[in-house]
Amino acid sequence: MTVHGFAFPQGRIEVICGPMFSGKSEELIRRVRRAIIARQRVQVLKPTIDTRYSNSQVVSHSDVRLNASCVATVRDIYTAVHPRTEVVGIDEAQFFDEELVAVCNGLANRGMRVIVAGLDMDYRGVPFAPMPKLLGVAEIVTKIQAVCMECGAPASFSQRIGGTTDTVELGSSERYEARCRRHFEPEEERQMELLRARAEVLRVPNIARD
Ligand code: ADP
Ligand code: MG
Repeated sequence: MTVHGFAFPQGRIEVICGPMFSGKSEELIRRVRRAIIARQRVQVLKPTIDTRYSNSQVVSHSDVRLNASCVATVRDIYTAVHPRTEVVGIDEAQFFDEELVAVCNGLANRGMRVIVAGLDMDYRGVPFAPMPKLLGVAEIVTKIQAVCMECGAPASFSQRIGGTTDTVELGSSERYEARCRRHFEPEEERQMELLRARAEVLRVPNIARD
């Protein structure tokens, strides 16, 4: 069937985002399982970098599992996806670069339903790699919350506990916990950045006088 030049009318991008432990992988798996029940041809991919639990499965923190293939780079998604695939699931999308946006658009334009799950912010509370742009081009966006480990409120931030200041540092509950805005404490590096920005604002009148 051709609708407005596209082979299938159902091509679209769905994004599932939120902090760690919010249930992104569970939700991705739930949607993919329903597509399998509907006898659609499904492929699930994740970046090679995410080897926390398994390199042949998407695994949630609650141990829900689904078979998946690992791809090293965004370009490998094109080669990995079979032309007859109807639904493509991609987990841990924040580990891919911004080219992911063009690749997802390309797959959706071919008529595929592309379901992408990923962290919308890194441990500093800064939008993560391709996610903001992906949210911009998606037809359907689902932003979910975890439970704040300090107070039990809905949590949208991923708090890193100790460790380095690398943006990418794999880990689970021993390295990160979900926090609400009130209890999220960006690390020293980010706090220094904010202090510098404030000092800069305060310095402006002096600069004008000099
Ligand atoms: P994500 O992919 O967003 O990191 P998962 O789908 O892997 O999340 O895991 C979600 C599951 O994690 C929940 O169903 C729950 O069992 C567990 N969990 C652990 N800590 C929390 C938390 N702070 N808030 C919500 N769920 C949590
Ligand atoms: Mg996950």
